[in-house]
Amino acid sequence: MESYDVIVVGLGHAGCEAALACARMGLSTLGLTMRADRIALMSCNPAIGGTAKGHLVRELDALGGEMARAADQAGTHFVTLNGSKGPAVRATRVLCERDVYAEVMQATVRAQARLTVVEGEASVLEVEGARVVGVTLQDGRRFAARAVVVTTGTFLQALMHLGDEKSVGGRLGDAAATGLSVSLRALGFSLGRFKTGTPARLLKDSIDWARCERQPGEVSPRPFSLRTPRAPFPLRAPLDCFVTHTNAQTHGILRDNLHASPLFQGEIVGRGPRYCPSVEDKVVRFAHRARHTVFLEPEGHQSPLVYPAGLSTSMPAEVQLRFLRSIVGLEEVQVARYGYAVEYDYAPPTQLHATLETKRVAGLFFAGQLNGTSGYEEAAFQGLLAGINAGLQVQGAPALVLGRDEAHGAVLLDELVTRGVDEPFRMMTSRSEHRLTLREGNAEFRLRAHGARVGLVSAVEAASSAQRADQVRGELARLEGARLLAKLRRPEVTYASLAAEDVHRPALPEDLCAEVEVEAKYAGYVKQAQTTWTRKVESHDAWRIPEGFRYAEVRGLSREAVEKLELVRPDTVGHARRVQGLTPAAMSLLLVALRAAKA
Ligand SMILES: Cc1cc2nc3c(=O)[nH]c(=O)nc-3n(C[C@H](O)[C@H](O)[C@H](O)COP(=O)(O)OP(=O)(O)OC[C@H]3O[C@@H](n4cnc5c(N)ncnc54)[C@H](O)[C@@H]3O)c2cc1C
Repeated sequence: MESYDVIVVGLGHAGCEAALACARMGLSTLGLTMRADRIALMSCNPAIGGTAKGHLVRELDALGGEMARAADQAGTHFVTLNGSKGPAVRATRVLCERDVYAEVMQATVRAQARLTVVEGEASVLEVEGARVVGVTLQDGRRFAARAVVVTTGTFLQALMHLGDEKSVGGRLGDAAATGLSVSLRALGFSLGRFKTGTPARLLKDSIDWARCERQPGEVSPRPFSLRTPRAPFPLRAPLDCFVTHTNAQTHGILRDNLHASPLFQGEIVGRGPRYCPSVEDKVVRFAHRARHTVFLEPEGHQSPLVYPAGLSTSMPAEVQLRFLRSIVGLEEVQVARYGYAVEYDYAPPTQLHATLETKRVAGLFFAGQLNGTSGYEEAAFQGLLAGINAGLQVQGAPALVLGRDEAHGAVLLDELVTRGVDEPFRMMTSRSEHRLTLREGNAEFRLRAHGARVGLVSAVEAASSAQRADQVRGELARLEGARLLAKLRRPEVTYASLAAEDVHRPALPEDLCAEVEVEAKYAGYVKQAQTTWTRKVESHDAWRIPEGFRYAEVRGLSREAVEKLELVRPDTVGHARRVQGLTPAAMSLLLVALRAAKA
């Protein structure tokens, strides 16, 4: 029987990061995948990053992961989201050429020393004395390992829905994995059921682009990865995105056909992602909205396809075509592939330690959508950390568990393993009580030393980031000495606008100037708003919440928070704090409202 240090089951976004990390840490690694030509496929939208997700990718990059570099290679449209909001929530989003992204990642996996890829379906996890010892494939082949990372995405017992048609498969064109759920249950793991969906793919030439609003990307974006050279960049010719909207007619068609939707007919039992609802769900849940935005995203220079973000659906094909053609610019649209939903087994992540190792079986790690998350970036970050920790365990080295104040990725992992999930979990910056200090711009300062410690970042790279961090600190100290720091903290003053009176200013790269400015402006808030946050909330744990308290009337409280609080109806602030999915921002708003109610 062939034997490896680590086996990674599945080579999607989580699996690629896990397998590359283990091999780069010097371990013999086997990547098992149902189809080698589908490694790192983007199952849904062709974009990497976005709000909070961009933060995860920069953090992953600083730790020595691969996703950011692949996005730089495949990117055709780079934008910074939340540009008008505070720097803490600004986030990079890169629209990629779908096929190129997968090709780049596949080439990286193929070229990686010590990483062997085998096609086959992992069916049984072999365990001896509560420790994993290997994997058996459905065709009977067996492989031994000292640690196993399972990253099976949406594939376990997967069932696809298109109207009333059901078919077995983890993704269009892919089979489902059937054996592994049985093996996991036999080992005592509990499994739940979630669903996700994707929109139709449209033919580029059938869209009336002149009727849609053009949205070009940034002309000279900053690469996602610290490892991508700044010039020449971007590497691929740009592609514009376009915007259009649903309208009353679209909503009417959807509402009239809810009886044909598997979602509304109880055919789909798994819960779907709150932040990526299907369009039929949106017209019901947000009935007051006259229209919803649709982003038309080209899937590549050579691809004839366009991805209509915002139109995920599992309505019957004939209804999909009708509602699509009711949208401005899509009157004559031709559909290459209809949207569908997929239901799959996930493993509630409270069964995991903070390292993503299972509590039940030593040496067995879970990562990605299997843990009840949604999204490529959430999957990749978990894959990297699970891979690192599997590798460290095999090496006999201490595990890597990041603090919530060090990374959004750490918040993601902590939320998963301590609170669990009751719907597909998507990362948001508001989930972090440290969000002012966890910015995209300082990810390298926070995390590169950890990457170096585990062997995924070179000493030269780590030293370069440490030196850049020193430059920022040094410049802040110099500004203070020159009595300019207080001035820079004023809202109307920028670092650039101070230049004229600051004759001894050193020449700093543009991104470090931005960091100096943010650090200066945030310093006060950070002390006030965050370092005291936990103490503030914890000191109110015993406060009783009045019976019948009207959460819907709390100003600024999100619909999600209201729903969760209405459902649980916590007795005290301490109880509310433990409600799954309640963010620090929501807790602060609740405290303000309770204080007002007491007064
Ligand atoms: C139809 C659809 C719609 C989606 N919509 C959205 C969305 O709107 N928003 C969003 O954020 N995310 C969406 N996603 C989810 C997104 O694709 C995932 O979040 C992401 O791909 C998860 O990464 P992963 O590595 O966990 O799993 P995947 O990328 O799914 O990779 C899993 C890998 O495991 C392999 N595998 C599975 N079982 C076995 C086995 N037994 N043996 C060997 N190999 C195995 C598969 O072949 C695959 O390579 C959607 C996914 C699908 C399929």
